[in-house]
Amino acid sequence: MSPGTGPHPFDGAMREALVLADEAARAGEVPVGAVAVLDSKVVGRGRNRREEDRDPCAHAELIALRDAARTLGRWRLTGVTLVVTLEPCAMCAGALVLARVDRLVFGAPDPKAGAVGSLMDLSADPRLNHRFPVDRGLRADECGAQLRAFFRLRRASAGAAGENSGSSELGSGGEIG
Ligand SMILES: [Zn+2]
Repeated sequence: MSPGTGPHPFDGAMREALVLADEAARAGEVPVGAVAVLDSKVVGRGRNRREEDRDPCAHAELIALRDAARTLGRWRLTGVTLVVTLEPCAMCAGALVLARVDRLVFGAPDPKAGAVGSLMDLSADPRLNHRFPVDRGLRADECGAQLRAFFRLRRASAGAAGENSGSSELGSGGEIG
């Protein structure tokens, strides 16, 4: 991402992930979007669906990995890069290890739940049987702004309804920024 080298090779994928995250926000979900890319082609897509599916595991990354596995007809996602708007949590980072992905690209860091550098780094633990390189901070400002806008709006509507929403407990970016 040094100046003059043109756009990041996964910039188009990140833009698509941002669109998926926006779709999540419009459905009332914390805006996180992910795409899986193989040979410059998107082979899997996912966005947060935790509320709609009432599923604690319905994170964007897991959904994109499963979508990619279905597309490719294999669980071992060798050659695949996962591109996601927010630093993955421990569950999703663990899934990236299990899926044997080639690379992770993420946008905003998640200081409260991130498991690829913030709280721990599951991408580079020598005790695990797979490691992968990580590109951090692609369109981080845009990804972070999208999350902050979502939480600002939600706090405002919770206040208007006279509810105490308490801590956001999101497991992903609850109080990001
Ligand atoms: Zn996750």
